[in-house]
Amino acid sequence: MGKDFQLMPKNTPITVARGDGIGPEIMEATLAILKGGGARLDIEEIEIGEKVYLRGNSAGIEPSAWESLRRTKVFLKAPITTPQGGGFKSLNVTTRKAFGLYANIRPCLSYDPYIRTKHPKMDVVIVRENEEDTYSGIEHQRTYDVTQCLKLISRPGCEKIVRYAFEYARAYGRRKVTCFTKDNIMKMTDGLFHKVFDEIGAEYADIEKEHWIVDIGAAKLADTPEVFDVIVMPNLYGDILSDVAAQIAGSVGLAGSANIGDGCAMFEAIHGSAPRRAGQNLANPSGLFLGAVQMLVHIGQADVAEKVHNAWLKTIEDGVHTYDIFREGVSKQKVGTKEFGQAVVARIGQKPTKLKPVDYSKAPTRPLTTRPPYKRDTAKRELVGADVFVFWPNGTMEQLAAKLQPLASDGLNLEMLSNRGMKVWPGGMAETFTVDETRCRFQLPEGKPGSIPHEALRALLERIQKAGIEWVKLENLYNFDGKPGFSRGQGQ
Ligand code: NAD
Repeated sequence: MGKDFQLMPKNTPITVARGDGIGPEIMEATLAILKGGGARLDIEEIEIGEKVYLRGNSAGIEPSAWESLRRTKVFLKAPITTPQGGGFKSLNVTTRKAFGLYANIRPCLSYDPYIRTKHPKMDVVIVRENEEDTYSGIEHQRTYDVTQCLKLISRPGCEKIVRYAFEYARAYGRRKVTCFTKDNIMKMTDGLFHKVFDEIGAEYADIEKEHWIVDIGAAKLADTPEVFDVIVMPNLYGDILSDVAAQIAGSVGLAGSANIGDGCAMFEAIHGSAPRRAGQNLANPSGLFLGAVQMLVHIGQADVAEKVHNAWLKTIEDGVHTYDIFREGVSKQKVGTKEFGQAVVARIGQKPTKLKPVDYSKAPTRPLTTRPPYKRDTAKRELVGADVFVFWPNGTMEQLAAKLQPLASDGLNLEMLSNRGMKVWPGGMAETFTVDETRCRFQLPEGKPGSIPHEALRALLERIQKAGIEWVKLENLYNFDGKPGFSRGQGQ
């Protein structure tokens, strides 16, 4: 008896949230398909979203819900409605960051000829970095004219996501990983992402690698997606381009997404709560369902994933379609949310004959997140100056430079003034438009060894303040093994 017990596959606890708008209906249909396929799940339900927000909880999630997620470490989440107006934080971003869900995986496939698409051969997986970039949410208004959003890209962040993309490609038999960045302009941040892509890519001799500048890469993706396979990119580009990719494949309503971290994972549809369609048994549950398929693979139930995914493909192929993908002449039957779920359940055990069936028999049985321990660089780090941003609403740049030059000490020179990144002194152009904040670069002579103590900067700021100029921000300048860890001003 003990032996039999050991052979019985165990249920996996998961946390489920039914969400807002169409959320409850598409979750019901999704869970019905999972049940029909024999998924071995113990479901804990939590409440998130609009009701929680409107109870005065600006995060949209209660502490008890966090406890459930901490316990199960697997979250199947329906879309939620974020109330309009200030003060409400995005629950998605909060969950991703709180649990370190650094990898966002969005497969974008076309189902030609059953679902209308301009790209019949499209089969792209977008691997989006999920925690960093401008999504760090560090924003400030510094002067009347100027706001900023900090774009933070870290080496461990890049290493995690890039390695995940290559491991994903290898595990799922994909031939190529493409990296999109804008490192011709953002040489430090996107440059680091690209550099890490090259470094880690060198460990994967079996996989083809390429890099595209994101603008032309995006154009190519929209025009000829069949040349891409797996694409890895920083957060913001990934956010935008995964919606583009899902839409051109057929519909954003069809794409599911996995958010993977070292400990926890969250699975969802990429679309929102579509409030106008709520409560009418109209919505397509496929996006959430395909997110749930990724969840089944993740929790080691690839057998169930394969069964329900093939039944879903057969349903699509049989022309049983919800309103959003229904087309006269192609579709055979227009169904509601619930009936679509029932149609999939009725086909469990069948495979598509025209569309390619899925085969998860080789799906990874170990987490993809294994990686070598992070080794921090040991380069010599030296303080060589600072960019002091000052409020300078009225005077000329010559006047500002004349006031600042005598204030430099400790070997520092006033190297440059720039306004919105463009050099305006020395030798600025009269045509350059300026705003009320100017960056003043104080730096040791370039190429000469040496560094300054931190106290030198504090003293410099005090002298600037005493001279009647308001400084609004200090950004230290460091050399790493003698090489500048900062960009030059445009035109410098
Ligand atoms: P949306 O994705 O909800 O809807 C966009 C359009 O697509 C609508 O016309 C809608 O009817 C249609 N649509 C979306 N999903 C569909 C489905 N499954 N079946 C059929 N049609 C579908 O985007 P929106 O209208 O911009 O946002 C509505 C709400 O959703 C907002 O409150 C927004 O904050 C929220 N939202 C939540 C998430 C999430 O929880 N992951 C993501 C995006 C938006």
